[in-house]
Amino acid sequence: MIKRAYKERLYPTPEQTELLAQSFGCARFVWNNTLAYRTTAYQQQGESVSHSTAEKRLVSLKADYPWLKDVSSVILQQTLRDQKTAFDNFFNPKLKARYPRFKKKDGRQSIRLTRAAFRYRDGEITIAKAKTPLPIRWSRPLPSEPSSITISRDRAGRYFISCLCDFVPEAFPVTPKTVGIDLGLSDLFITSDGAKSGNPRHLKRYEAKLARLQRRLAKKQKGSRNRQKLCQKVARLHAKIADCRRDAIHKASRTLINENQVICVESLNITGMVKNRSLAKAISDAGWGEFVRQLEYKAAWSGRQLVKVSQWYPSSKLCHGCGHKVEKLPLSQRHWHCEGCGEAIDRDINAANNIRTAGLAGFACGATGAGAAA
Ligand SMILES: [Zn+2]
Repeated sequence: MIKRAYKERLYPTPEQTELLAQSFGCARFVWNNTLAYRTTAYQQQGESVSHSTAEKRLVSLKADYPWLKDVSSVILQQTLRDQKTAFDNFFNPKLKARYPRFKKKDGRQSIRLTRAAFRYRDGEITIAKAKTPLPIRWSRPLPSEPSSITISRDRAGRYFISCLCDFVPEAFPVTPKTVGIDLGLSDLFITSDGAKSGNPRHLKRYEAKLARLQRRLAKKQKGSRNRQKLCQKVARLHAKIADCRRDAIHKASRTLINENQVICVESLNITGMVKNRSLAKAISDAGWGEFVRQLEYKAAWSGRQLVKVSQWYPSSKLCHGCGHKVEKLPLSQRHWHCEGCGEAIDRDINAANNIRTAGLAGFACGATGAGAAA
């Protein structure tokens, strides 16, 4: 059994909106206040503040700021636990996590509620101190009672609920099909079958619109009402673009997992690549990291194998047909002629085929395979 989050849109009533705004505000206050205390203690005495000290401080915070009692205490305790995790991550040298940061009023807001702070009955969720269940637009029923929920509001003002549930993955029937995937720039990926993913529809249009709005925004006076309105518009468009991308990635990873038993990808050093300025935008935009992450967990759930091929394997420079290797192949060159066998070669499809071969070879000796281990 594994835990899986189910995220849905939420449309709070005016009363609930007020309660949520209050809860976001209190959680943010406790987070920022405790973070400031921890930071000062560390800078002045070189001490790290323990979780139990932070919990004791919360009691006195509530005495000093009685409005903190207007929201469920579970939310505030959870905020402290989340901060503890953030610090644990920061002090873990393996994770290379950043120092926890202050939460801003205009950023994404969120609260986490454990079992004691909400009721789940007949598919409806009611949070503590609310009189009515939350109006949620369910896209599918939950497989079990949630063990915790996270309610958030993004910068575009949209509300979401994410429910953590027990989930029993079901392995798919085995298929003989295998595929190699080359991660591309203009296309998110190209498969060894020669299929190119293309880019999400509407994306170009949204992006052009965003550029236009941002130019207008730059001319507006700081603090003006018009500027504020335009800011909201920009945030909404940003959210739309992000949704569009995420949707496309989810669909693509799902199709690949459904159709193939073994999926071979190149393991990429993405942080290393993003430092290269000219590639930076394209790579972050294309969402490679997220794509591979999705392939990884979906493979594990469905009984498929994801095989990662070393990034140093010369997948682009080898001819898949005869094994001839070219010495130089600039990134701009998308097609080449193999001197070994005379074939005309499409750079990306050739690379995808090489990745597939290398992946299956490694897989046959049991060398790698994230999904295989799970
Ligand atoms: Zn060749």
